[in-house]
Amino acid sequence: MGLEKCVHCGFCLEACPTYVITRSEIHSPRGRILAVKLGIPSEGIETCVFCRRCEAACPSGVEYGESISSVRKADFLKKTIHRILENSNLLYTSLKIAKHSNKGIMYRISKFIPESFPPLISNDKNAQIILFPGCITSVVFRKTVEKAFNYLKKYFTVSIYNGCCGLPHYAEGEKDRALQIAQKLKEEFKGKIVVSLSSNCTAHMKEMGINVYDFSEFLVKYNMPLPKINSEVTVHDPCHANLIGITKYNREVLNRMGIKIKEMEDPSFECGAGGSYFVFQGELSDKIMKVKEEKVKESGANTVISTNPSCSLAMMRYSKVVHIADLL
Ligand code: SF4
Ligand code: SF4
Repeated sequence: MGLEKCVHCGFCLEACPTYVITRSEIHSPRGRILAVKLGIPSEGIETCVFCRRCEAACPSGVEYGESISSVRKADFLKKTIHRILENSNLLYTSLKIAKHSNKGIMYRISKFIPESFPPLISNDKNAQIILFPGCITSVVFRKTVEKAFNYLKKYFTVSIYNGCCGLPHYAEGEKDRALQIAQKLKEEFKGKIVVSLSSNCTAHMKEMGINVYDFSEFLVKYNMPLPKINSEVTVHDPCHANLIGITKYNREVLNRMGIKIKEMEDPSFECGAGGSYFVFQGELSDKIMKVKEEKVKESGANTVISTNPSCSLAMMRYSKVVHIADLL
């Protein structure tokens, strides 16, 4: 399963957000790995944010994410959420309904997601580029989608694919469904240039063998024209995107725009939202968000660049948050 490589050295501990806030071995990568190896139930399996920062810190090459995704099992509620994420119109309607609730998980979702919009539609079978907003971005950050769409349209024919990449399924115990989604996307995207607005979705799709560019990666690799902007920001590195090394493109684009970066400490430290983590692990999620908030504030910048929707939603609670596409 890939966990046998763990030598229990503990190098991953300080990288793990749940260990940082609890100081509990149960809620650490090492504790979770031991529980899986011994085959014993552990609440730590459910409290994992699935940020995979432990993988980046591990000198033994333990494939933590792959192993934990096999161990977790989605219950009916999580499966229902995953099906909603797969359909942007249904997601938009569900978020509208959540606005009228005053308790339970729907209430927590409505507090976390301030507003939602119908997804932007553009169907052109012959388009050169498929713009992939990502499920949450498609209905929560519609202005960002419009910005990216209008920018790309100046140079290419563009179609939009509204839907889910399958990362929530992969992270939360529906690995088979995640593999089905990946297969479907490979077929949909065949022969096209695909540009994603959600960096952790980009990372997941790349890891699933889908040919896709993160938005900034596309801007750099296609040497796209960029405006000059006199501004200062700090940059958040979404965890999965950071793991596969594509967050460097956001910095490169900002440098080309002339925007000054005031680095925060440990920019890939978990935002606290973790996909649907904020829904099911509210207390831990809030504590992780607090740690991130301090890092953002200590940077001295009043704007955070974030290219992943759940991270943006978490940081919008205490800072101005901007996607690279919003700058174009
Ligand atoms: S996962 Fe890696 S870093 Fe963490 S305890 Fe095991 S070997 Fe050490
Ligand atoms: S995936 Fe994240 S939360 Fe889970 S054990 Fe690894 S570092 Fe900790």
